Amino acid sequence: MSYTAPLKDMLFVMNELAGLSAVNALPGCEDATPETAEAILEENARFCGEVIAPLNHGGDKEPSAWADGRVTTSPGFKEAFRQFGEAGWQGVQHPVEFGGQGLPKLVATPCIEMLNSANLSFALCPLLTDGTIEALMTAGTLQQKETYIANFISGKWTGTMNLTEPQAGSDLALVRTRAVPEGDGTYKVFGTKIFITYGEHDMAENIVHLVLARTPNAPEGVKGISLFIVPKFLVNADGSLGARNDVQCVSIEHKLGIKASPTAVLQFGDHGGAIGTLVGEENRGLEYMFIMMNAARFAVGIQGLSVSERAYQQAVAYARDRVQSRDLAGSPGPVAIIHQPDVRRMLMSMRAQIEAARALAYVAAATSDAAHFSDDEATRKSNQAFYEYLVPIVKGWTTELSIDVTSTGVQVHGGMGFIEETGAAQYYRDARILPIYEGTTAIQANDLVGRKTARDGGAVAKGIIAQVRKTVAELQGDAALAPIAARLGESADALEQVVDYVVGNVKSDIKAVFAGSVPYLKMAGVVLGGWQMARAAAVAATKLKAGEGDGKFYEAKLATARFFADQILPQALAYRTAIVEGGQAVLALPEDQF
Ligand SMILES: Cc1cc2nc3c(=O)[nH]c(=O)nc-3n(C[C@H](O)[C@H](O)[C@H](O)COP(=O)(O)OP(=O)(O)OC[C@H]3O[C@@H](n4cnc5c(N)ncnc54)[C@H](O)[C@@H]3O)c2cc1C
Repeated sequence: MSYTAPLKDMLFVMNELAGLSAVNALPGCEDATPETAEAILEENARFCGEVIAPLNHGGDKEPSAWADGRVTTSPGFKEAFRQFGEAGWQGVQHPVEFGGQGLPKLVATPCIEMLNSANLSFALCPLLTDGTIEALMTAGTLQQKETYIANFISGKWTGTMNLTEPQAGSDLALVRTRAVPEGDGTYKVFGTKIFITYGEHDMAENIVHLVLARTPNAPEGVKGISLFIVPKFLVNADGSLGARNDVQCVSIEHKLGIKASPTAVLQFGDHGGAIGTLVGEENRGLEYMFIMMNAARFAVGIQGLSVSERAYQQAVAYARDRVQSRDLAGSPGPVAIIHQPDVRRMLMSMRAQIEAARALAYVAAATSDAAHFSDDEATRKSNQAFYEYLVPIVKGWTTELSIDVTSTGVQVHGGMGFIEETGAAQYYRDARILPIYEGTTAIQANDLVGRKTARDGGAVAKGIIAQVRKTVAELQGDAALAPIAARLGESADALEQVVDYVVGNVKSDIKAVFAGSVPYLKMAGVVLGGWQMARAAAVAATKLKAGEGDGKFYEAKLATARFFADQILPQALAYRTAIVEGGQAVLALPEDQF
């Protein structure tokens, strides 16, 4: 099944909802004109559709393979990665001084979406490298930046993120990998890291691992973790590759999905110690890794959107093609299943959730740009707070909905969905990892409750709810939009009640509050996604009245926004009840009763 990038919707969201022209006006974003962005998206769509997407199904059938410490990636991956690097796609959002294009996140985000729709497994390698670049840009020395970043951007080298150990998953306080100073500015690293994405592969000449480890006498817990660069091949002073470092890939995992992406067990220091260099200061590793993780969490949210879009495209094609049963309103013979109301419900629910998730993610990207590039400190601060509130939602909500959307994609296919050759099952299997890695949904929800809501007494959350209400007020006067406004208004009220409940009870009844953390995250996704769909409906209605642009697109947008309001937004009210009244029910059964 081929992939056609949904450029129309991407450009609509970028321009009309996320505000590309406002981003373009930020200092440093002068090159990101709407015309340039459109040209980049078109070229990226061509590359992803023609070069990357055709490798997706083959990668699932012929996964990466391990032998004698080496990993051979799936057929075609190596050559495609060469083309990816040469075309400059790794550098879209990275600094011009290191060979990147220096474009804002808002322009990079649709490119990331397309790459992941084309092939989740392939896209993971650039995704991790993006995170490595961000961490080094923030905490690395000039020399580290000069040594590594240009090579990442050109696709010569790739980056990895080494947090997880057998005993340390969600809880990084348990990290045991050791880093012993050598007295010459380097460290020797010893330990085992598991589940390391693209920890070993054959697509680049060097692999640069960013590794969390403890120095001797470091404080216990997360305050004693430092971050190290440990390259597979050491790098000489002139930038050429030196000796093989003491890091070995001892195996890769056999997985439910994303099979082409090698998930490595890495052994550091079995032969005397892997040589590493410190990033930033000792004991501040987790702080730096969080920079990388925030970028990666956002990108994993985009992966959820991407795989959902791919599943939707395939489901629509199948529903048009498969003939079964007569039309309920009468037909001479059996019709394509797209005529059946329940199939329409499934397709609309896929489509509406995808469009809402895309809009929320692109809006988040634009706030990140304002937080980064604005020359006004207050604007930077308020946008950063908005972005940080949205990151766990984009990650958690979008990846959770991708399970639902890809599963619905299987359902649209009936029995053929369960048969591997259609490819529908692959999207479902591939999507299953997304709510797990880069922090499970529960970990995102803990972040949303603790750092993003309780810590500031709900101030940022309420500021966003106030913006939602502004949209409600704007829509109320228009008869066609008033029903959407009504649903959005009641869901915003429900969200505010939940924020009040979280803030009011987090000290007195912490377990009950956290029992509702994932429902709160999902609810926030539904309400804020619904907010973006309402904004989209308002734009579409204005364009239709003015007779501007593609009328069919705007009519479809209005219909999809109405579906979201009528069919998805009411979930917010059920979440409110479950969160505010159901915490004790979650905890009522004693542990020994399970
Ligand atoms: C395919 C794949 C690729 C990966 N890539 C990488 C990588 O490149 N680099 C890397 O470092 N790691 C990687 N990981 C590891 C991944 O990030 C972890 O699996 C994930 O963070 C969860 O940790 P865990 O598996 O130890 O689960 P656990 O932490 O054991 O969690 C088990 C369950 O307990 C819940 N839980 C745990 N703690 C809490 C809590 N405080 N509150 C509420 N619920 C909680 C979790 O939500 C989950 O449902 C990868 C994993 C996979 C499978």
